[in-house]
Amino acid sequence: GGGDAGGRKSRRPRRVLVFPLPFQGHINPMLQLADTLHARGLAVTVLHTHFNALDPARRPEFRFVPVPDGVPAGVAASGDAIDILHAMNAGMEAEESAALRGVLESVLADEEKTPAACIVFDANLLAVPRAAAAVGLKTVVLRTASAACFGCFMAYPMLHQKGYLPPQESKMYMPVKELPPLRVRDLFYSSWSDQEKMRNLLARAMEAVNNSSGLVINTFDALEPAELERIRDELRIPMVLAPGPLHKLSSKNTASSLLDEDCDCIKWLDKQPPKSVLYVSFGSLASLDPNEFLEVAWGLATSGHPFLWVVRPDSVRGLDGPGFPNGFEAAVEGRGKVIRWAPQQEVLAHRAVGGFWTHNGWNSTLESISEGVPMICRPQFADQMMNTRYVEKTWGVGFELEGELERGKIEKAIRKLMEEREGAEMRERAMELKMKVADCLKPGGSSEIAIDKLVRHILSL
Ligand code: UDP
Repeated sequence: GGGDAGGRKSRRPRRVLVFPLPFQGHINPMLQLADTLHARGLAVTVLHTHFNALDPARRPEFRFVPVPDGVPAGVAASGDAIDILHAMNAGMEAEESAALRGVLESVLADEEKTPAACIVFDANLLAVPRAAAAVGLKTVVLRTASAACFGCFMAYPMLHQKGYLPPQESKMYMPVKELPPLRVRDLFYSSWSDQEKMRNLLARAMEAVNNSSGLVINTFDALEPAELERIRDELRIPMVLAPGPLHKLSSKNTASSLLDEDCDCIKWLDKQPPKSVLYVSFGSLASLDPNEFLEVAWGLATSGHPFLWVVRPDSVRGLDGPGFPNGFEAAVEGRGKVIRWAPQQEVLAHRAVGGFWTHNGWNSTLESISEGVPMICRPQFADQMMNTRYVEKTWGVGFELEGELERGKIEKAIRKLMEEREGAEMRERAMELKMKVADCLKPGGSSEIAIDKLVRHILSL
């Protein structure tokens, strides 16, 4: 191992800058990676936007530097992640302000004693490569989604050439034979209406990766071997690393939550029988319409299983706060618990949790796999459909709840996962995957080897 690589006396202490995309599913893995690098002796400066600004007090070991992002208040308040991302990229790039470049210049000047070796940035922050190049800073890209998802990005031109895209309603279930096990509907971009905008975005994202000195993907070799091999074969850069699952490398994960976690739920879980509880959460962005919310509530109530359900203040579209149906609370008394935000990794690791109804954000998917918890999948957008497909088809650790949400269907799905043989088999396979995660985290495992390589690489820059 290269655990002491950062601490050798002959070397000056070095620093990395990290710049996460300011959404929960992107902040978490970036700070987890930063923790790991910090533990290897590197100083860390975290750049963060005003939008979803991070709280420096929760991470005294890092230096925090705000970056003006130029996101108009109206766009920020809209909650539309794609609009916010566009506004942010445009704002940070605007010629007249050169906002990001200015910040990088002053950070480099301030930190002469522990000079920055590189900036590790979220793949979606398209303003970074140019600004970094302007100040002579090397870049490493972090992708917080799966290797399969990045493979899909790389395949975008092919998918057009072969006629899979633009997606047609009649071809949604057609297999994409070049990218098994995906079908057209599982592709990232099938839900995008503006394909031209998508093409530009992807071209720039690929350029950013090709011009960087390394690509880090939050996955591990045993989980996506073929997908990683394809990327390593096709990409022009020397270093494609899979040091995941990153949340297992850090002990301070709760410190990056944007909402306060309800930790009382752990005490509640302590009182439940082993593997009896269904944990229900759709991540930080996905939402339900009021009718779906009602069906979920009654589906959970009638399933008869204990459940822990995360309902964020903005979980229900078009309502100020989620309104629970009359009689719901009485129906689930003592058996169901609703909270605003969970300490999710702790919940999934709890012995009382036997299943996860998830939207299949990549972090949630990895976290579930890491604890051997099988899933009911309800993907909504972005890479979630593709993650569901892998969960169901490749790893066999869950199944999709498709079509309209309806209480009877929900109840059946819950029973299938929690009581029936199929569910038990998925749980067994999930436990096997959990062992693979444990293997990759061992000394000398693929995760440690990848981090060693990354640290060595950073120190060589
Ligand atoms: N999360 C959490 N508490 C919750 C729900 C989610 O801490 O109640 C965390 C979860 O552990 C994961 C992240 O928020 O690390 C969500 O990321 P993911 O990629 O699953 O979904 P996204 O929010 O990006 O759609």
